[in-house]
Amino acid sequence: MNTPWGYPDFDAHEALHFVNDESTGLRAIIAMHSTHLGPAAGGTRFWHYADDAEALTDALRLSRGMSYKNAMAGLPLGGGKAVVLANKSRTKTPEMLAAFGAAVNGLCGKYVTAEDVGMSVADMIEISKQTKFVAGLPVEGGAVGGDPGPHTSLGVFLGIKAAVKRALGKDSLNGLHIALQGAGSVAGGVARQAAAEGAKLSIADVDRTRAENLAAETGGSVVTPDDILFLEADVVSPCALGAILTEQSIARLNSPIVAGGANNQLATAEDGRRLQARGILYAPDYVINAGGIINVSTEYLGDGGPDLVRSRVEAIPGRLEQIWSESAASQQDPASVADAMAQKLIGRR
Ligand code: NAD
Repeated sequence: MNTPWGYPDFDAHEALHFVNDESTGLRAIIAMHSTHLGPAAGGTRFWHYADDAEALTDALRLSRGMSYKNAMAGLPLGGGKAVVLANKSRTKTPEMLAAFGAAVNGLCGKYVTAEDVGMSVADMIEISKQTKFVAGLPVEGGAVGGDPGPHTSLGVFLGIKAAVKRALGKDSLNGLHIALQGAGSVAGGVARQAAAEGAKLSIADVDRTRAENLAAETGGSVVTPDDILFLEADVVSPCALGAILTEQSIARLNSPIVAGGANNQLATAEDGRRLQARGILYAPDYVINAGGIINVSTEYLGDGGPDLVRSRVEAIPGRLEQIWSESAASQQDPASVADAMAQKLIGRR
């Protein structure tokens, strides 16, 4: 990594904007990692960080991740991300969102925002009063837009099927056991599609009621959050938190496949190699979970309708196949192969 500013996560980011608006209390960082393929696109996170350095690290890492995700999804977008530093009471006012919208607008379209953790569709509507460089807005009449979750779920479901084909030689999920970590938006869509194909589901969520409701709807079983990753299953699908694949958890996995929608599943790059060493097929997260940004991109750029979104999401399994084939040929783990492909696409290799 190129670290001329002394930050370990600095990776030749094109620009970092520190936003301070005393009248509204807004403090934000807008990180633009790459505009090689188009405007730096990625959502805004509203989060209470332990300190400013943690917020900067998050912005640096997440914006680089968006460059990789957008490039691997074949989108004409670069990578960026914004973080808004919440105060202790986590107050988010319309005035603060307006000041943030004005800051985004001041970048003249070089950065395009959307929802991320802590930001809702309603917040995007507030931001859109100040700038047109925003997506993830509600739409009507079958137009592209709105909640990206179902598109992410479709991509993850298709990616799981591709992994099952590769690792187990099966064309269907019928009779296979899938362990789902999380019962939220992405996991819910995956669970419904997998159940419709005859998969047996184990589901865990820290919000047990959520897990129970999804299990009731899909004929699945509820498992405790502590156990879900370590069940004997055909597929483990992390659809909740990041950094859940660690030296300790990987040693205890009991499944030949890890394929899920959560961002940043590997705690470190070494963990990608650990999965490979154990013979576990891993679907790189930013490749399999790109369905949502594909929808956001099509909404923002207005370059197609629902058919284009679907065909772009349906290209995800092919991209995974390419990564796994190169991984098999080079003996490099799939996450490293995906990183190298993405870096080439954004002109960093
Ligand atoms: P969500 O908030 O709808 O669901 C997440 C669920 O995970 C919640 O029900 C939460 O209670 C549960 N959870 C949290 N910690 C847990 C734990 N330790 N064990 C089990 N469950 C736990 O979020 P989502 O939109 O479904 O996103 C899930 C993951 O997918 C996140 O990592 C997100 O960044 C990623 N992702 C989402 C999208 C999208 O379009 N929504 C796109 C790309 C990536």
